[in-house]
Amino acid sequence: MLIVQKFGGSSVANADKIQKAAQRIVDTYKNGHKVIVVLSAQGDTTDDLIAKAKEINPEPSKRELDMLMATGEQQSCALMAMAIHRLGFPAISLNAVQVGISAFPQYGNARISRMKCDRIYSELERNSIVIVTGFQGINQYGDISTLGRGGSDTTAVAIAAEMQADLCEIYTDVDGVYTADPRMVKNAKKLKEISYDEMLELASLGAVVLHNRSVELAKKYNVRLVVRSSITDAEGTVVKEESQMESTYISGIALDRETAQITLIGMKDDPGMAFKIFSFMAKNKISVDIIIQSIGRQSVKDISFTVSTENLADTINLLEKNKDFIGYSHIMHDANQAKLSVVGAGMATNPGVAAAMFEALSDANISINMISTSEIKISVLIDERDAEQAVRYVHNRFFEQGVEF
Ligand code: ADP
Ligand code: ASP
Ligand code: MG
Repeated sequence: MLIVQKFGGSSVANADKIQKAAQRIVDTYKNGHKVIVVLSAQGDTTDDLIAKAKEINPEPSKRELDMLMATGEQQSCALMAMAIHRLGFPAISLNAVQVGISAFPQYGNARISRMKCDRIYSELERNSIVIVTGFQGINQYGDISTLGRGGSDTTAVAIAAEMQADLCEIYTDVDGVYTADPRMVKNAKKLKEISYDEMLELASLGAVVLHNRSVELAKKYNVRLVVRSSITDAEGTVVKEESQMESTYISGIALDRETAQITLIGMKDDPGMAFKIFSFMAKNKISVDIIIQSIGRQSVKDISFTVSTENLADTINLLEKNKDFIGYSHIMHDANQAKLSVVGAGMATNPGVAAAMFEALSDANISINMISTSEIKISVLIDERDAEQAVRYVHNRFFEQGVEF
Protein backbone atom coordinates (compact mmCIF):
# COMPACT_ATOMS: atom_id res chain seq x y z
CA MET A 1 0.00 0.00 0.00
CA LEU A 2 0.98 3.62 -0.39
CA ILE A 3 0.43 5.38 2.93
CA VAL A 4 0.73 9.08 3.84
CA GLN A 5 1.43 9.66 7.53
CA LYS A 6 1.20 13.19 8.90
CA PHE A 7 2.53 14.09 12.33
CA GLY A 8 1.43 17.34 13.99
CA GLY A 9 3.60 19.70 16.02
CA SER A 10 3.08 18.06 19.41
CA SER A 11 3.89 14.64 17.93
CA VAL A 12 7.39 15.79 16.92
CA ALA A 13 7.89 18.33 19.72
CA ASN A 14 11.24 16.99 20.99
CA ALA A 15 13.94 14.42 20.22
CA ASP A 16 12.13 11.67 22.09
CA LYS A 17 8.88 12.24 20.20
CA ILE A 18 10.68 12.39 16.85
CA GLN A 19 12.29 9.06 17.66
CA LYS A 20 8.93 7.52 18.60
CA ALA A 21 7.35 8.80 15.39
CA ALA A 22 10.35 7.54 13.41
CA GLN A 23 9.82 4.08 14.89
CA ARG A 24 6.16 4.11 13.87
CA ILE A 25 7.08 5.17 10.32
CA VAL A 26 9.75 2.48 10.07
CA ASP A 27 7.32 -0.17 11.37
CA THR A 28 4.92 0.73 8.56
CA TYR A 29 7.77 0.61 6.03
CA LYS A 30 8.94 -2.77 7.35
CA ASN A 31 5.45 -4.12 6.74
CA GLY A 32 6.13 -3.63 3.05
CA HIS A 33 4.33 -0.33 2.49
CA LYS A 34 5.59 2.74 0.68
CA VAL A 35 5.53 5.64 3.12
CA ILE A 36 5.31 9.38 2.58
CA VAL A 37 5.57 11.41 5.77
CA VAL A 38 4.31 14.99 6.15
CA LEU A 39 5.43 16.96 9.17
CA SER A 40 4.50 20.14 11.02
CA ALA A 41 7.03 22.28 12.81
CA GLN A 42 8.06 21.02 16.25
CA GLY A 43 5.81 21.99 19.19
CA ASP A 44 5.25 25.75 19.39
CA THR A 45 7.90 26.59 16.79
CA THR A 46 5.50 28.42 14.47
CA ASP A 47 4.19 30.59 17.32
CA ASP A 48 7.74 31.26 18.48
CA LEU A 49 8.80 32.31 14.97
CA ILE A 50 5.85 34.71 14.74
CA ALA A 51 6.77 36.18 18.13
CA LYS A 52 10.37 36.56 16.98
CA ALA A 53 9.25 38.41 13.86
CA LYS A 54 7.06 40.77 15.89
CA GLU A 55 9.95 41.58 18.20
CA ILE A 56 11.79 42.92 15.18
CA ASN A 57 8.79 44.53 13.49
CA PRO A 58 5.26 44.52 14.97
CA GLU A 59 3.83 44.46 11.45
CA PRO A 60 6.12 42.15 9.50
CA SER A 61 5.70 41.83 5.75
CA LYS A 62 3.58 38.79 4.98
CA ARG A 63 6.11 37.53 2.46
CA GLU A 64 8.96 37.63 4.96
CA LEU A 65 6.80 36.10 7.68
CA ASP A 66 6.10 33.14 5.38
CA MET A 67 9.82 32.83 4.63
CA LEU A 68 10.44 32.63 8.36
CA MET A 69 7.54 30.36 9.34
CA ALA A 70 8.34 27.82 6.65
CA THR A 71 11.74 27.14 8.25
CA GLY A 72 9.99 25.34 11.13
CA GLU A 73 8.78 22.51 8.92
CA GLN A 74 12.14 22.21 7.20
CA GLN A 75 13.79 21.66 10.60
CA SER A 76 11.45 18.90 11.71
CA CYS A 77 11.73 17.10 8.36
CA ALA A 78 15.52 17.08 8.35
CA LEU A 79 15.55 15.87 11.97
CA MET A 80 13.08 13.09 11.14
CA ALA A 81 15.25 11.91 8.23
CA MET A 82 18.22 11.75 10.62
CA ALA A 83 16.17 9.76 13.16
CA ILE A 84 15.12 7.25 10.50
CA HIS A 85 18.72 6.92 9.23
CA ARG A 86 19.78 6.12 12.77
CA LEU A 87 17.29 3.26 12.81
CA GLY A 88 19.04 1.98 9.71
CA PHE A 89 16.48 2.84 7.04
CA PRO A 90 16.64 5.08 3.95
CA ALA A 91 14.84 8.42 4.17
CA ILE A 92 15.03 11.80 2.47
CA SER A 93 13.46 15.12 3.44
CA LEU A 94 12.07 17.45 0.78
CA ASN A 95 10.62 20.96 0.99
CA ALA A 96 7.89 22.48 -1.18
CA VAL A 97 10.40 23.68 -3.81
CA GLN A 98 12.00 20.26 -4.13
CA VAL A 99 8.65 18.49 -4.40
CA GLY A 100 6.98 21.12 -6.58
CA ILE A 101 3.96 22.12 -4.52
CA SER A 102 2.47 25.15 -6.30
CA ALA A 103 0.14 27.54 -4.53
CA PHE A 104 -2.05 30.53 -5.26
CA PRO A 105 -0.33 33.67 -4.08
CA GLN A 106 -1.96 34.89 -0.90
CA TYR A 107 0.83 34.93 1.69
CA GLY A 108 -0.18 33.38 4.99
CA ASN A 109 -3.28 31.81 3.48
CA ALA A 110 -2.15 30.21 0.24
CA ARG A 111 -4.11 27.44 -1.46
CA ILE A 112 -2.43 24.52 -3.18
CA SER A 113 -2.95 24.85 -6.93
CA ARG A 114 -0.85 22.00 -8.30
CA MET A 115 1.17 19.17 -6.92
CA LYS A 116 4.04 17.65 -8.89
CA CYS A 117 5.02 14.30 -7.54
CA ASP A 118 7.84 13.13 -9.85
CA ARG A 119 10.51 13.63 -7.23
CA ILE A 120 8.45 11.80 -4.62
CA TYR A 121 7.88 8.93 -7.09
CA SER A 122 11.55 8.63 -7.90
CA GLU A 123 12.58 8.62 -4.24
CA LEU A 124 9.94 5.98 -3.47
CA GLU A 125 11.29 3.94 -6.40
CA ARG A 126 14.65 4.01 -4.65
CA ASN A 127 12.88 2.52 -1.65
CA SER A 128 13.29 5.65 0.40
CA ILE A 129 10.85 6.92 3.01
CA VAL A 130 9.97 10.40 1.75
CA ILE A 131 9.49 13.20 4.28
CA VAL A 132 7.77 16.35 3.06
CA THR A 133 7.40 19.75 4.76
CA GLY A 134 3.76 20.52 5.55
CA PHE A 135 2.12 23.96 5.45
CA GLN A 136 4.00 25.43 2.48
CA GLY A 137 3.73 25.95 -1.25
CA ILE A 138 5.48 28.01 -3.92
CA ASN A 139 3.47 30.81 -5.49
CA GLN A 140 3.63 32.16 -9.02
CA TYR A 141 6.47 34.55 -8.07
CA GLY A 142 8.56 31.61 -6.93
CA ASP A 143 8.10 32.59 -3.29
CA ILE A 144 7.28 30.39 -0.35
CA SER A 145 3.76 30.96 0.91
CA THR A 146 2.16 29.18 3.87
CA LEU A 147 -1.24 27.53 3.80
CA GLY A 148 -2.77 29.02 6.95
CA ARG A 149 -2.42 27.79 10.52
CA GLY A 150 -2.89 24.06 10.80
CA GLY A 151 -2.20 23.70 7.06
CA SER A 152 0.04 20.64 7.25
CA ASP A 153 -3.07 18.45 7.27
CA THR A 154 -3.92 19.94 3.87
CA THR A 155 -0.45 19.19 2.49
CA ALA A 156 -0.83 15.56 3.60
CA VAL A 157 -4.24 15.12 2.00
CA ALA A 158 -3.15 16.92 -1.20
CA ILE A 159 -0.22 14.51 -1.58
CA ALA A 160 -2.47 11.53 -0.79
CA ALA A 161 -4.94 12.74 -3.43
CA GLU A 162 -2.34 13.39 -6.12
CA MET A 163 -0.52 10.12 -5.54
CA GLN A 164 -3.74 8.16 -5.08
CA ALA A 165 -2.52 6.84 -1.75
CA ASP A 166 -4.47 4.02 -0.16
CA LEU A 167 -4.60 5.78 3.18
CA CYS A 168 -3.85 9.15 4.78
CA GLU A 169 -3.22 8.95 8.52
CA ILE A 170 -3.23 12.11 10.63
CA TYR A 171 -1.27 11.43 13.84
CA THR A 172 -1.97 13.90 16.61
CA ASP A 173 -2.16 14.35 20.39
CA VAL A 174 -5.72 13.00 20.70
CA ASP A 175 -6.77 9.54 19.55
CA GLY A 176 -9.53 10.58 17.20
CA VAL A 177 -12.35 13.02 16.54
CA TYR A 178 -14.60 13.47 19.57
CA THR A 179 -18.12 14.80 20.07
CA ALA A 180 -16.44 17.95 21.46
CA ASP A 181 -12.87 19.06 22.18
CA PRO A 182 -11.82 16.41 24.74
CA ARG A 183 -9.65 19.00 26.49
CA MET A 184 -12.76 21.00 27.29
CA VAL A 185 -15.35 18.26 27.81
CA LYS A 186 -14.00 15.36 29.87
CA ASN A 187 -16.75 12.92 28.89
CA ALA A 188 -16.67 13.73 25.18
CA LYS A 189 -17.05 10.55 23.15
CA LYS A 190 -14.76 9.33 20.41
CA LEU A 191 -16.43 8.84 17.04
CA LYS A 192 -15.64 5.64 15.19
CA GLU A 193 -16.39 7.40 11.94
CA ILE A 194 -17.71 10.70 10.64
CA SER A 195 -18.79 11.83 7.17
CA TYR A 196 -16.70 14.30 5.18
CA ASP A 197 -19.54 16.83 5.30
CA GLU A 198 -19.95 16.75 9.04
CA MET A 199 -16.18 16.83 9.62
CA LEU A 200 -15.84 19.73 7.20
CA GLU A 201 -18.50 21.63 9.11
CA LEU A 202 -16.91 20.88 12.51
CA ALA A 203 -13.44 21.85 11.27
CA SER A 204 -14.72 25.07 9.69
CA LEU A 205 -16.55 25.95 12.89
CA GLY A 206 -13.52 25.70 15.12
CA ALA A 207 -12.59 22.04 15.73
CA VAL A 208 -8.87 22.37 14.99
CA VAL A 209 -8.25 18.62 14.99
CA LEU A 210 -8.27 18.81 11.17
CA HIS A 211 -7.58 21.80 8.91
CA ASN A 212 -10.90 22.42 7.16
CA ARG A 213 -9.36 22.54 3.68
CA SER A 214 -7.84 19.10 4.23
CA VAL A 215 -11.33 17.71 4.70
CA GLU A 216 -12.58 19.57 1.63
CA LEU A 217 -9.79 17.97 -0.44
CA ALA A 218 -10.33 14.54 1.08
CA LYS A 219 -13.99 14.72 0.08
CA LYS A 220 -13.21 15.97 -3.42
CA TYR A 221 -10.68 13.23 -4.14
CA ASN A 222 -12.23 10.56 -1.92
CA VAL A 223 -9.12 10.17 0.22
CA ARG A 224 -9.41 7.62 2.99
CA LEU A 225 -8.58 9.72 6.05
CA VAL A 226 -7.97 8.51 9.59
CA VAL A 227 -7.29 10.68 12.65
CA ARG A 228 -5.35 8.82 15.34
CA SER A 229 -2.95 9.09 18.23
CA SER A 230 0.82 9.37 17.81
CA ILE A 231 1.20 8.01 21.35
CA THR A 232 -1.14 5.01 21.59
CA ASP A 233 -2.31 2.34 19.16
CA ALA A 234 -6.00 3.20 19.69
CA GLU A 235 -8.07 2.82 16.57
CA GLY A 236 -8.82 6.42 15.63
CA THR A 237 -11.67 7.99 13.65
CA VAL A 238 -12.31 7.30 9.98
CA VAL A 239 -13.48 10.28 7.93
CA LYS A 240 -15.38 9.05 4.88
CA GLU A 241 -18.19 9.63 2.43
CA GLU A 242 -21.10 7.96 4.18
CA SER A 243 -21.23 7.38 7.85
CA GLN A 244 -23.51 5.48 10.12
CA MET A 245 -23.64 8.67 12.12
CA GLU A 246 -26.72 9.54 10.09
CA SER A 247 -28.64 7.40 12.51
CA THR A 248 -27.97 10.02 15.17
CA TYR A 249 -28.98 13.65 14.97
CA ILE A 250 -25.81 15.29 16.17
CA SER A 251 -22.20 14.33 15.50
CA GLY A 252 -20.39 17.01 17.46
CA ILE A 253 -20.01 20.43 18.99
CA ALA A 254 -17.42 23.01 17.93
CA LEU A 255 -16.24 26.25 19.47
CA ASP A 256 -14.55 29.14 17.70
CA ARG A 257 -13.16 31.72 20.09
CA GLU A 258 -11.65 33.83 17.32
CA THR A 259 -14.90 35.62 16.65
CA ALA A 260 -15.60 39.35 16.81
CA GLN A 261 -18.90 41.15 16.42
CA ILE A 262 -19.34 44.49 14.67
CA THR A 263 -22.53 46.55 14.65
CA LEU A 264 -23.26 49.54 12.46
CA ILE A 265 -25.86 51.68 14.19
CA GLY A 266 -28.25 54.07 12.51
CA MET A 267 -27.93 53.09 8.88
CA LYS A 268 -30.29 54.61 6.35
CA ASP A 269 -33.07 52.19 5.48
CA ASP A 270 -32.34 52.39 1.72
CA PRO A 271 -32.08 49.54 -0.79
CA GLY A 272 -28.50 48.39 -1.44
CA MET A 273 -27.07 49.19 1.99
CA ALA A 274 -26.05 45.60 2.71
CA PHE A 275 -24.50 45.42 -0.76
CA LYS A 276 -22.38 48.52 -0.04
CA ILE A 277 -20.94 47.14 3.18
CA PHE A 278 -20.36 43.59 2.11
CA SER A 279 -18.88 44.43 -1.27
CA PHE A 280 -16.23 46.49 0.59
CA MET A 281 -15.54 43.48 2.74
CA ALA A 282 -15.34 41.13 -0.24
CA LYS A 283 -12.96 43.45 -2.14
CA ASN A 284 -10.68 43.41 0.87
CA LYS A 285 -10.90 39.61 1.17
CA ILE A 286 -12.46 39.72 4.63
CA SER A 287 -14.95 36.92 5.23
CA VAL A 288 -18.13 37.79 7.01
CA ASP A 289 -19.96 35.15 8.93
CA ILE A 290 -23.24 35.60 10.80
CA ILE A 291 -25.24 38.68 9.72
CA ILE A 292 -28.36 40.12 11.28
CA GLN A 293 -30.25 43.23 10.41
CA SER A 294 -32.73 44.95 12.68
CA ILE A 295 -36.20 45.81 11.45
CA GLY A 296 -36.15 49.40 10.16
CA ARG A 297 -37.69 52.03 12.43
CA GLN A 298 -38.09 55.70 11.52
CA SER A 299 -36.08 55.00 8.33
CA VAL A 300 -32.97 53.80 10.17
CA LYS A 301 -31.75 50.31 11.01
CA ASP A 302 -28.74 48.49 12.45
CA ILE A 303 -26.63 45.76 10.84
CA SER A 304 -24.58 43.41 12.97
CA PHE A 305 -22.12 40.81 11.68
CA THR A 306 -19.15 38.73 12.75
CA VAL A 307 -15.60 38.48 11.40
CA SER A 308 -12.63 36.53 12.68
CA THR A 309 -10.76 38.36 15.45
CA GLU A 310 -7.64 38.71 13.30
CA ASN A 311 -9.65 40.75 10.79
CA LEU A 312 -11.33 43.03 13.34
CA ALA A 313 -8.85 45.94 13.18
CA ASP A 314 -8.79 45.96 9.35
CA THR A 315 -12.58 45.83 9.20
CA ILE A 316 -13.07 48.74 11.60
CA ASN A 317 -10.49 50.73 9.64
CA LEU A 318 -12.26 50.04 6.38
CA LEU A 319 -15.70 50.92 7.72
CA GLU A 320 -14.47 54.13 9.36
CA LYS A 321 -12.71 55.26 6.19
CA ASN A 322 -15.96 54.82 4.26
CA LYS A 323 -18.32 56.11 6.92
CA ASP A 324 -19.87 58.86 4.80
CA PHE A 325 -20.29 56.66 1.77
CA ILE A 326 -21.91 53.82 3.73
CA GLY A 327 -23.92 56.23 5.88
CA TYR A 328 -24.21 55.12 9.50
CA SER A 329 -24.06 57.00 12.74
CA HIS A 330 -21.59 54.88 14.72
CA ILE A 331 -19.83 51.52 15.06
CA MET A 332 -19.78 49.18 18.01
CA HIS A 333 -17.48 46.18 18.23
CA ASP A 334 -16.69 43.36 20.61
CA ALA A 335 -13.65 41.11 20.20
CA ASN A 336 -14.64 38.85 23.09
CA GLN A 337 -17.27 36.78 21.39
CA ALA A 338 -17.29 33.06 20.66
CA LYS A 339 -19.28 30.97 18.24
CA LEU A 340 -20.68 27.70 19.52
CA SER A 341 -22.03 25.26 16.93
CA VAL A 342 -23.86 21.98 16.97
CA VAL A 343 -23.26 19.88 13.83
CA GLY A 344 -25.15 16.89 12.53
CA ALA A 345 -26.47 15.63 9.22
CA GLY A 346 -29.61 14.37 10.92
CA MET A 347 -30.82 17.71 12.24
CA ALA A 348 -32.22 19.20 9.03
CA THR A 349 -35.68 17.82 9.58
CA ASN A 350 -35.66 18.11 13.36
CA PRO A 351 -36.65 21.48 14.79
CA GLY A 352 -36.19 19.91 18.22
CA VAL A 353 -32.40 20.20 17.89
CA ALA A 354 -32.45 23.99 18.01
CA ALA A 355 -34.90 23.95 20.90
CA ALA A 356 -32.70 21.53 22.86
CA MET A 357 -29.61 23.68 22.27
CA PHE A 358 -31.37 26.87 23.39
CA GLU A 359 -32.78 25.08 26.41
CA ALA A 360 -29.29 23.95 27.47
CA LEU A 361 -28.01 27.53 27.17
CA SER A 362 -30.97 28.82 29.10
CA ASP A 363 -30.32 26.25 31.86
CA ALA A 364 -26.77 27.58 32.02
CA ASN A 365 -28.14 31.13 32.19
CA ILE A 366 -26.14 32.13 29.10
CA SER A 367 -27.57 34.67 26.71
CA ILE A 368 -27.40 34.28 22.96
CA ASN A 369 -26.28 37.31 20.95
CA MET A 370 -26.85 35.95 17.43
CA ILE A 371 -28.14 32.77 15.83
CA SER A 372 -27.46 31.21 12.45
CA THR A 373 -28.64 27.90 11.04
CA SER A 374 -28.03 25.72 8.00
CA GLU A 375 -29.08 22.22 7.01
CA ILE A 376 -26.46 20.56 9.14
CA LYS A 377 -25.55 23.07 11.85
CA ILE A 378 -26.86 25.59 14.32
CA SER A 379 -24.47 28.29 15.54
CA VAL A 380 -24.93 30.81 18.32
CA LEU A 381 -22.78 33.77 19.20
CA ILE A 382 -22.15 34.11 22.93
CA ASP A 383 -19.79 36.03 25.23
CA GLU A 384 -16.37 34.37 25.22
CA ARG A 385 -16.29 34.15 29.01
CA ASP A 386 -19.34 31.85 28.89
CA ALA A 387 -17.91 29.66 26.14
CA GLU A 388 -16.53 26.65 28.01
CA GLN A 389 -19.55 26.37 30.26
CA ALA A 390 -21.81 26.61 27.24
CA VAL A 391 -19.96 23.80 25.47
CA ARG A 392 -20.31 21.57 28.54
CA TYR A 393 -24.03 22.27 29.00
CA VAL A 394 -24.83 21.74 25.33
CA HIS A 395 -22.70 18.60 25.19
CA ASN A 396 -24.41 17.27 28.28
CA ARG A 397 -27.83 17.96 26.78
CA PHE A 398 -27.14 16.07 23.55
CA PHE A 399 -24.74 13.34 24.58
CA GLU A 400 -25.48 12.62 28.23
CA GLN A 401 -29.17 13.27 28.66
CA GLY A 402 -30.04 12.35 25.08
CA VAL A 403 -32.53 14.34 23.08
CA GLU A 404 -36.03 13.15 22.51
CA PHE A 405 -38.01 14.53 19.62
P1 ADP B 1 -1.57 18.87 15.57
O1 ADP B 1 -0.46 19.69 16.11
O2 ADP B 1 -1.34 17.40 15.68
O3 ADP B 1 -2.01 19.29 14.19
P2 ADP B 1 -3.87 20.27 16.69
O4 ADP B 1 -3.62 21.00 17.97
O5 ADP B 1 -3.90 21.08 15.44
O6 ADP B 1 -2.79 19.09 16.57
O7 ADP B 1 -5.24 19.43 16.79
C1 ADP B 1 -5.45 18.53 17.87
C2 ADP B 1 -6.29 19.22 18.93
O8 ADP B 1 -7.59 19.46 18.42
C3 ADP B 1 -6.55 18.40 20.16
O9 ADP B 1 -5.51 18.51 21.10
C4 ADP B 1 -7.87 18.94 20.69
O10 ADP B 1 -7.70 19.80 21.79
C5 ADP B 1 -8.42 19.76 19.53
N1 ADP B 1 -9.82 19.45 19.19
C6 ADP B 1 -10.80 20.38 19.00
N2 ADP B 1 -11.96 19.79 18.72
C7 ADP B 1 -11.74 18.45 18.73
C8 ADP B 1 -12.59 17.32 18.49
N3 ADP B 1 -13.89 17.45 18.19
N4 ADP B 1 -12.03 16.09 18.58
C9 ADP B 1 -10.72 15.94 18.86
N5 ADP B 1 -9.88 16.98 19.09
C10 ADP B 1 -10.37 18.23 19.03
N1 ASP C 1 3.21 24.60 11.80
C1 ASP C 1 1.99 25.16 11.26
C2 ASP C 1 1.13 25.75 12.37
O1 ASP C 1 1.50 25.70 13.53
C3 ASP C 1 1.22 24.20 10.41
C4 ASP C 1 0.63 23.01 11.14
O2 ASP C 1 0.97 22.73 12.29
O3 ASP C 1 -0.19 22.33 10.53
O4 ASP C 1 0.09 26.28 12.08
MG1 MG D 1 -3.30 20.73 13.45
